[in-house]
Amino acid sequence: MQAMVLHRTGRDLRFEERDIPSPGPGEVRVRVEACAVCRTDLHVVDGELPDQRVPIVPGHEIVGIVEAAGSGVAGIAPGTRVGVAWLAGTCGVCAYCREDRENLCESAAFTGHTRDGGFASHVIADAAYVFPLPPDADPVKLAPLMCAGLIGWRCLRALGAARNVGLYGFGAAAHLVAQVLRWEGRAFHAFTRPGDEQSQALARSLGAAWAGGSDALPPVPLDGAIIFAPVGSLVPAALGAVRKGGRVVCGGIHMSDIPSMPYRLLWGERELVSVANLTRRDGREFLELAGRIGIAPKTTPYALRDANRALDDLRSPGAMAGNSSNWPGGSASRPRRPPTPCGTPTARWTICAHPARWPGIPRTGRADRHRAQDDPLRPAGRQPRAGRSAAGTDRRRGRPRSLTVFFAPAGRRRIAACPTCGSRR
Ligand SMILES: [Zn+2]
Ligand SMILES: [Zn+2]
Repeated sequence: MQAMVLHRTGRDLRFEERDIPSPGPGEVRVRVEACAVCRTDLHVVDGELPDQRVPIVPGHEIVGIVEAAGSGVAGIAPGTRVGVAWLAGTCGVCAYCREDRENLCESAAFTGHTRDGGFASHVIADAAYVFPLPPDADPVKLAPLMCAGLIGWRCLRALGAARNVGLYGFGAAAHLVAQVLRWEGRAFHAFTRPGDEQSQALARSLGAAWAGGSDALPPVPLDGAIIFAPVGSLVPAALGAVRKGGRVVCGGIHMSDIPSMPYRLLWGERELVSVANLTRRDGREFLELAGRIGIAPKTTPYALRDANRALDDLRSPGAMAGNSSNWPGGSASRPRRPPTPCGTPTARWTICAHPARWPGIPRTGRADRHRAQDDPLRPAGRQPRAGRSAAGTDRRRGRPRSLTVFFAPAGRRRIAACPTCGSRR
């Protein structure tokens, strides 16, 4: 079999040939037809999740055909098309499992995080955690449903009956949730990185009542909002946009720190909740609904060997709108930073824009007028290189760009050590 393997976080995946594995008791071997790339895969590759196993084959939005079944597997015959999602197994005996909250299981296994996933030609899965899928559908169009769709669905259920819904971060999950909201007759408002016209255009094409930057307020108060972007500063932004009694749901597995905020944003019985993982019931409910209403993901196919490029493109602003070239420097110089032991993001040429994280570094020059909070959809630490302005064009290449906010520390382009933990990695 072939697989793209992560041997060390912060590094590229490596192509490998391996022996085709045999399924153990209760397991099936699935020949992968398609595996979608999720934001969580970036967290895995960047080492941003706790207890990351390596080496690991990432990928948890898998669609494939069952080739072989281990002993004790009933009801899934070879030849069946199945989906394999993030939740790979649970203990069945902990308090959460007994309370029908298996998504919170104390010793759950996760596809592409704690056991090998779908960036491969074959994958082994627990037969009790795969979902039967229609044999006649396009596997490429089914794959994004397995996480973006399922997590989006769980967020939507957590949101309740809100009529005017805000979606912060209009990517894979949001564009599927938007289709459910439209089908249900609810209005959605799409918030993107300021200036991300392509994602806003995608949102409008899917029927958004309004689309704009996350620094703007919607034309009407929201009844609720879902935050898909892993950016903590969106929490106060979303709370400020929902009416009294409204709920804000955080749908990501990882988020940058939430800045302190005035209590009035939460007051008025506003609620802030998170959604973690998924249950098999979420999967069954959503996949049934998706088939009924014909949810259509927008996809860009890549070959397995191009998994690193697919991950790079996913990082890019506007990736969902089909343009991956507007990340400063293009995908060839992605701002991947190996985290230091304390978790502070750093990189040889990336300078964190958050002044609290880089104390003592003077800020000078025209970039001074910008603040990290001005661009809430750009995670702190994932700032463009110094030398690019905040609007207009790239000075050196004359290329139009849209998104940058950064500080240019005086006379420094490089930070050798993490200012928090002192690591020089
Ligand atoms: Zn459990
Ligand atoms: Zn995912």
